[in-house]
Amino acid sequence: MRDIVLHELELAPRWKLRDARVARHASSTSGGAVDISQMDWEMLRQAVANCTACPLHMTRTQGVLGAGDVHADWLFVGEAPGAEEDVQGEPFVGAAGKLLDAMLASIHLKRGANVYIANILKSRPPGNRNPKPEEIAACLPYLERQVQLIQPKIIVALGRFAAHSLLATDASIGSLRGKLHQYQDIPMIVTYHPAYLLRNLPDKARAWEDLCLAVATMQGLLKQQAVTI
Ligand code: URA
Repeated sequence: MRDIVLHELELAPRWKLRDARVARHASSTSGGAVDISQMDWEMLRQAVANCTACPLHMTRTQGVLGAGDVHADWLFVGEAPGAEEDVQGEPFVGAAGKLLDAMLASIHLKRGANVYIANILKSRPPGNRNPKPEEIAACLPYLERQVQLIQPKIIVALGRFAAHSLLATDASIGSLRGKLHQYQDIPMIVTYHPAYLLRNLPDKARAWEDLCLAVATMQGLLKQQAVTI
């Protein structure tokens, strides 16, 4: 019974990040090993476009780096491009993206305006299957560099793959949400993935609570900043 519930909540199967982490800097493009941590935006765009670090490059239409304001205070991180994102080259442009836009609007945010949207994986897994640990490990350096370049004030992890990858845990979303986490000293909130919410409407109320926590956290940060200036 527990397994059925976990599956329905997209919390199973559980997987470990430990092995994946070992390979995190083995990422390379067709030109050989590259130091992703030193890249600027243009280099990142090119590297993702040409990346062959995992087999997903063979089935994707294009790599999807991310989209939005590169100086944003808000960074939203999803799982991986789906079919529409793979074609359009932009994250969250399908049905889940429409809900994400509505979630942003509910807290007076708009895609591209003080908001950057990225995914853990830059390439679409075929058939929208779950990301594999080795794919996450190969791709994570790109997101790490995006975070360094953007320097967001807050990160919102959308769903278990984002939360698990950034926090290096396999704890349930239920236990991670409602709390303030840190990713490399940046406050981070965990909430449900919009695609999950489309199938589980009652949990929208919980996602709303998470967004309110994120807003309260941001307000606290801004207040703190005003005091120290
Ligand atoms: N789901 C994601 O996690 N990311 C996208 O870009 C689209 C759907």
